[in-house]
Amino acid sequence: QCEVIASPSNSLDMVCGLVVFIMDVTEKQELETMRREFTSNVSHELKTPLTTIYGTADMLANGMVKQEDVAQFGGNIRSESERLINLINDIVSLSKLDEDSAPRENESVELYALAEEVLDRLKLSAAEKGITASLTGERVSLIGSRTILSEVIYNLCDNAIKYNVSGGKLDVKVSHIPQRAIITVSDTGMGIPKEHIGRIFERFYRVDKSRSRRIKGTGLGLSIVKHGVMYHKGTVRVESVAGSGTTFVVELPIEKKQ
Ligand code: ADP
Repeated sequence: QCEVIASPSNSLDMVCGLVVFIMDVTEKQELETMRREFTSNVSHELKTPLTTIYGTADMLANGMVKQEDVAQFGGNIRSESERLINLINDIVSLSKLDEDSAPRENESVELYALAEEVLDRLKLSAAEKGITASLTGERVSLIGSRTILSEVIYNLCDNAIKYNVSGGKLDVKVSHIPQRAIITVSDTGMGIPKEHIGRIFERFYRVDKSRSRRIKGTGLGLSIVKHGVMYHKGTVRVESVAGSGTTFVVELPIEKKQ
């Protein structure tokens, strides 16, 4: 785009070129700011559990913990390590979705079977909260990346369980309209207050940190969903009523098999 400026053939080109150039710089700056924020967030998020792990292990190693408290301290190390592992996995998923390094998988993916697999992986955590999960709809195939689509569905269903009430419901539906596949994930959980809806797809954004503290998460799940959907040139929208539930609707173009 900048090359247009280097060889303008007339003043109109120059003006167009200039406009393009300004947009280009602004976009680059935004991207740069996003990268910088991401790096500083990542290091903060990584340091927090590591500091706890280090401090707790140090006390154990120095014999500063009473015998009866050892199990509790060990448990803290385990849960903070788990948080680190989840975080690292999410960061790796997200960086794989970056344009330059994204895998260019192009295979036929059947979404109903994929959703079935995801729900199977999550059946333990659903059962722990007494949540009834259901899958309805029809078989719909599209050309895309199985790994990425699996992560999209996984993150939506995982949230629908995490932010649900005990004994609640999770409904997944796979359907299609001409040229587009639709995946709907609805829950009967706590919902998302209106003022937060616009920000939930941002990296590391969590609605009300204190509400979320009890619920494990990295704040990266919905960024992975957003980028996974963008990778497939689709859209994702959310409807939520605080206190009664949330529905995410993913629409993906069905490309013809080559
Ligand atoms: P997290 O790892 O915190 O779950 P996400 O990026 O997946 O991160 O989600 C961002 C925030 O959006 C969550 O912290 C939660 O507050 C809110 N959220 C996401 N999905 C739901 C849902 N189904 N119901 C209620 N709140 C949700």
